[in-house]
Amino acid sequence: MDPGSEPVRRALLAATLIAGCASAAPADVAAKAACPITLFVLGVAQDAGKPQIANPDDSAWAEPSLRRLATALAVIDDRGAERRRYLFEATPDIKQQLQRLDEEFPVDRRVGLDGIFLTHAHIGHYVGLMHIGYEAANADDTPTYVMPRMAAYLRANGPWSQLVAYDNIEIKLQKDGEPQRIADGLTATPFRVPHREEFSEVVGWRIDGPEKSVLFLPDIDSWEDWDAQGVALENMLFDVDAAYLDATFFADGELGHRDMSGIPHPRIADTMTRLADEPAATRAKVRFIHLNHTNPALDPDSAEARAVIAAGFKLAQEGETLCL
Ligand SMILES: [Zn+2]
Ligand SMILES: [Zn+2]
Repeated sequence: MDPGSEPVRRALLAATLIAGCASAAPADVAAKAACPITLFVLGVAQDAGKPQIANPDDSAWAEPSLRRLATALAVIDDRGAERRRYLFEATPDIKQQLQRLDEEFPVDRRVGLDGIFLTHAHIGHYVGLMHIGYEAANADDTPTYVMPRMAAYLRANGPWSQLVAYDNIEIKLQKDGEPQRIADGLTATPFRVPHREEFSEVVGWRIDGPEKSVLFLPDIDSWEDWDAQGVALENMLFDVDAAYLDATFFADGELGHRDMSGIPHPRIADTMTRLADEPAATRAKVRFIHLNHTNPALDPDSAEARAVIAAGFKLAQEGETLCL
């Protein structure tokens, strides 16, 4: 995108108006503190990561620091005698993400995943399951928390059906809006959201720890579609401490030759406009995630990333942690 383009100028103007003091600092990454329960960000990109296949000119091929993994979170519970680790999304980058988890939060067990929570059956969100199957880690009964249609899809279609048949995963059926207990004082609650549903329902997860609550909503078609279903983003933000929200695109025009009018996802610029009148404390909860490889805000030095920070929002960073 042209950094002087209208959406960017509007966002920059909005940022200046909202922030009062415009800061150009990159998104803050919370220092890794020792928490009883930690949320750990394992990936911030859209399903296909950055760089994406068939984009030979992406500078991330030559510069590893520009690469980003598909969106995923981990939750680590250190309250018991043995560390427990949970994964939100099984992405195509699960190999690298589990390695990062092992480096930062190691366990003595093989694989060491005590649960996997999935949002839906688009490639960036579940195909990593294949790596816990027979041809790879051959995990044993990993509890896998999914909605009913997603469960039926996994049971009925290879290679996923083999994971069920070989007991690599143990499907745990979920209900919309019903909290799933993970451990004492730790729950995850799926909530349906409007988004393409070719193979499964689509949910976000609300994660409630003893201290803090977090929304994880990597994919949604639009805030207006959600409004039409009687759910306002502002209300969902009200009683959580942080919200990882779909930020696939920054603004229209980002895909060059491709007409984006038929491609949903709230644009970051529009989400910022929608939340511009919310208190600063509310805006500070938002951590944009699931950025497409074309999203200029992936570059912390871009005008777009600076506009996000100046407006009081955050960009999720791989490696950031939060105490739950
Ligand atoms: Zn996605
Ligand atoms: Zn999706």
